[in-house]
Amino acid sequence: MATVSDYFGSLVFDDRNMRAALPADIYKSLRKTIDEGTNLDLNVANAVAEAMKNWAIEHGATHFTHWFQPLTGITAEKHESFITPSPDGSVIMEFSGKELIQGEPDASSFPSGGLRATFEARGYTAWDPTSYAFIKGKTLCIPTAFCSYSGHALDKKTPLLRSMEALNKQAMRILRLFGNTTAKRVVSSVGPEQEYFLVPKDLYDKRPDLRFAGRTLFGAKPPKGQELDDHYFGVIKPVVASFMEELNEELWKLGIMAKTEHNEVAPSQHELAPIYTTTNIATDHNQLTMEIMQRIAVKHGLVCLLHEKPFAGVNGSGKHNNWSIATDDGQNLLSPGETPYENAQFLLFLCAVIKAVDDYQDLLRLSVATAGNDHRLGANEAPPAVISIFLGDELNAIMEAIETDTPYMGTAKTVMKLGVDVLPKFNRDTTDRNRTSPFAFTGNKFEFRMLGSSNSIACANIMLNSAVAESLKIYADRLEKAEDFETALHDMIQKTIKDHKRIIFNGNGYDESWIKEATEVRGLLNYSTTADCMPHLLDEKNVKMLTAHGVFSEAELNSRCEIMLENYCKSVIIEAKTMTDMAKTMISPAVEAYTADIARTAGAKKAVSADISCKYETELVKKLSLLLDEICEKTDVLEAALMDLDKAKDTIEESEMIRDMILPKMCELRVPCDEAEVLTAKRCWPFPTYADLLFGTK
Ligand code: ADP
Ligand code: MG
Repeated sequence: MATVSDYFGSLVFDDRNMRAALPADIYKSLRKTIDEGTNLDLNVANAVAEAMKNWAIEHGATHFTHWFQPLTGITAEKHESFITPSPDGSVIMEFSGKELIQGEPDASSFPSGGLRATFEARGYTAWDPTSYAFIKGKTLCIPTAFCSYSGHALDKKTPLLRSMEALNKQAMRILRLFGNTTAKRVVSSVGPEQEYFLVPKDLYDKRPDLRFAGRTLFGAKPPKGQELDDHYFGVIKPVVASFMEELNEELWKLGIMAKTEHNEVAPSQHELAPIYTTTNIATDHNQLTMEIMQRIAVKHGLVCLLHEKPFAGVNGSGKHNNWSIATDDGQNLLSPGETPYENAQFLLFLCAVIKAVDDYQDLLRLSVATAGNDHRLGANEAPPAVISIFLGDELNAIMEAIETDTPYMGTAKTVMKLGVDVLPKFNRDTTDRNRTSPFAFTGNKFEFRMLGSSNSIACANIMLNSAVAESLKIYADRLEKAEDFETALHDMIQKTIKDHKRIIFNGNGYDESWIKEATEVRGLLNYSTTADCMPHLLDEKNVKMLTAHGVFSEAELNSRCEIMLENYCKSVIIEAKTMTDMAKTMISPAVEAYTADIARTAGAKKAVSADISCKYETELVKKLSLLLDEICEKTDVLEAALMDLDKAKDTIEESEMIRDMILPKMCELRVPCDEAEVLTAKRCWPFPTYADLLFGTK
């Protein structure tokens, strides 16, 4: 039997393959492009393309595609075959450097938020040589960025790469100030932990809400939910185990380091965590992981739900974005060091993150905003919509000591003047893993926990990288001019702590009293919906920062805001229409039929003897009839509200109407439907219940 190390990465044109297949000078020049971001010349591209094609054909590929991530949130590909006709009537398999570097998908149907006039429909894709090409099915997939001919980014990868570059540039300035002359690059890395649900496919197929909206829009609570916590880390069921086995195999072949898997808190919920890697590769890998999960699930008679809140009253699914920054020679800049001097540098990077998160709370919040994730944030299971940072006890004590120039009690009583020679060595605090914090320091990395399970991790990391780059730029500007480096450093770290300590919170983030304190006392932002936060993408301070670092142009920001709000509106409208449809064509007829059944039974009983009371039937018929009236009335109200959306003058107004008019009316319609479900005989209910879905997997 083949072992994992035999097939790991077998479908990736990775460094091993490149080194083996390319002439030494070509390999060296490609490596320089990958490691240092230098331009690739056409001769090199031609040689790489030839080697890549030969390798792909050997592995059964007939087609190639530029694989990219448009703003729809999923990935896109258009396959072209390698076949070129030859004069003698046969074909040859061809693939040029030009085809490798640049492609032209007909992109007129991808959202551009007004960036691309239709006459200029043809955007182009450009190879991202830092992310390896891979084979999916019979197609060689080349990871690419996607832009319009006017140079505007139409995808998530382009700004992600730009944000990594911005962070690299500013972090390098800081490292040089600390006397580091050896590092060539600073790179951000991510390990995204992915949560998901698996439900039986035959049951899924019977629920239009799951099929159209990815979540249940109706459903009474089952008698058993997650209260026993007996699913968390529990024994994995055989069908789920065989799904995971095949999933791992597929991921490993693609060089994706799937590492851990376990059952999550909710019944039927699971988690997969890969080993962390460079942010843009982690992003590609996470997109692939989500796609492959869905494909493999079906092969096992299951459906993989990636929605953030598939079931009301049961935990939703998120994604934990474990993020750190490191030099190309392997120094993790968020890891406390061995010496006080290293720790001064560590504290500066830590402060850069604290300042970034406080200054750009709004950008981080909106980077994870979707209609789906709105149901999760603040629902007592996921971090709240208010952003705060957890530091842990030791770091917290150090921060307090620096702030007040008082002795740090953790070790010898030294005043924490950052005259670096007196800064104590401190331990990594890995003790208290606060699970309720949206942004937690976990020893040598930050874990951003607000991402939704279906989000691309690109958006969150674009904002995180950019905001931290901005803090570092401010620091570097000051330190480069400072007369006395150590005093300037001390003052700056102290000032950061003073100015931004409001964002640090080590308590329970799920607590109601925290939200009150956060918003009323500390003045932190609390945007509970996408409609609330998204327009702030265009706030002056945000536009200024993101354009200054070259991450977005103003036009790109305008288009993104428009597209994200449009997505929000469209998702909710689909849900609302699915609801009215199900209420009218499935739920009402079922309740009606069951009511008629009971009424008939009562009539039959009375015919036997007028003395039989039929109290049960009478009460039930009355209750169900009232509920049916209510269902009918609330369906009409929701439909009328949907009609009213036509009156919105722009997308912002439409999103506000969705938030204020549509979503509340959807909740109102759900109530009588769920009440009717528990009064109606199971044989009459038109689709599988929560109990069936959550406990149906064998
Ligand atoms: P948890 O206790 O949250 O499950 P783990 O330490 O097992 O934490 O790691 C969770 C994720 O964090 C994994 O994907 C792991 O690869 C990633 N990770 C670990 N170290 C780093 C780092 N320095 N930078 C980024 N991600 C990291
Ligand atoms: Mg975690």
